[in-house]
Amino acid sequence: MGSMKEIFNSLLLKELLKGLSVTGRHAFARKTTVRYPEERTPQSFRFRGLHALRRYPDGEERCIACKLCEAVCPAMAITIDPGEREDGSRRTTRYDIDLNKCIFCGFCEEACPVDAIVLTRVFEYHGEKQSDLYYTKPMLLANGDRYEKEIAADRELDSKYR
Ligand code: SF4
Ligand code: SF4
Repeated sequence: MGSMKEIFNSLLLKELLKGLSVTGRHAFARKTTVRYPEERTPQSFRFRGLHALRRYPDGEERCIACKLCEAVCPAMAITIDPGEREDGSRRTTRYDIDLNKCIFCGFCEEACPVDAIVLTRVFEYHGEKQSDLYYTKPMLLANGDRYEKEIAADRELDSKYR
């Protein structure tokens, strides 16, 4: 009985008409795609993109090498070597993030007590080989210097919701 029904349905092209009706409905529906990169979708100020290490306005690096971000990172993507300066202050001698491992969870920035490590809105970066995505301290500081204005504005917005 079941197969008779299937034969009848296929003779009437029922499945085909059903499929065409779905196509027809979507052909005239409002488009949700954009013509990237000319068009962009809105981005949250909490977007988690490329990492950056920030400095204070006087140029001093914020990171105090407490290693909290390294400890909290579930992907074990962060490697820090701490060191003591002549004035007794503590800073990193090495701060690396392996973006091949990173899952962009944002735990590192949440854990940081001095707002040093942050995830920027930048997502348009790439590497042609694995080592290109291994970000060292100078690279992370350079990201911070480059995007500081945007980072500071986003932190300001974020603080209103905490
Ligand atoms: S975003 Fe998450 S996975 Fe990536 S470095 Fe930070 S804590 Fe680790
Ligand atoms: S980035 Fe923040 S959490 Fe990580 S070591 Fe530096 S001060 Fe500590």
